[in-house]
Amino acid sequence: MAIAIVLSGGSGSRMNSDVAKQYMLLKGKEILYYSLKTFQDNNNISDIILVARPEDIELCKVNIVDKYGFTKVRKICSGGKERYNSVYNGLCVVEELSEDVKNEIVLIHDGARPFVTHEMIDESVGNMILGSACTVGVPVKDTIKIVCEINGELFGKETPNRNTLYQIQTPQTFRYELIRMSYERMLGDENHNITDDTMIVEQYGGMGCKIIMGSYENLKITTPEDLEFAEKIVEKNL
Ligand code: C5P
Repeated sequence: MAIAIVLSGGSGSRMNSDVAKQYMLLKGKEILYYSLKTFQDNNNISDIILVARPEDIELCKVNIVDKYGFTKVRKICSGGKERYNSVYNGLCVVEELSEDVKNEIVLIHDGARPFVTHEMIDESVGNMILGSACTVGVPVKDTIKIVCEINGELFGKETPNRNTLYQIQTPQTFRYELIRMSYERMLGDENHNITDDTMIVEQYGGMGCKIIMGSYENLKITTPEDLEFAEKIVEKNL
């Protein structure tokens, strides 16, 4: 069994909307509803910690958790300024909930990714028998360039071999002790440049992460175009 930390502490400024993107409706239900529903129904998940902006905690409780009967959501905690601050706040709550924190497994998931599947969750948790860190990802489809700026113009500098590049998604799954220790070290380093939890474990836990096949549908809704694409996915899956 594992604990899921679902992140809903962002503002979603690129959606051009007054409502934070995770509460926008996707075919009649909040974007956040979809991933919470999958974690709620999954047999490998014992508890869910929902991380929300302080001003949204009541809304989350009444309009999502109570409304849809998400009984595994044991705590809604406040997020922080950056995504990693929100993850850290969620990790601290694991100590309160877990009966065996030394052996606990945590899945960290973006609430803005509605299409996490049971297969992804099961395979991620299954991997913790042998490993300590894994993430869902997909091979990149496009050629990727490392660029540099010269006199205000962009130039391609280097082209990494596409066969070695994966686009990393969530859920990302860790043994609790590893991710917590890596976070403590990262937070003590003023010069960190972190965008992802697997990166924290690589840099501060000295550990590579296993990659589990994700899905191109496991998108993070960031722009209005992503929401249109997500509507098509929901229609297709109905
Ligand atoms: O901003 P971005 O799209 O990278 O956010 C990814 C996920 O992290 C979203 O689900 C968002 O709500 C969450 N987040 C958070 N706290 C922040 C920033 C983002 O929980 N400070």
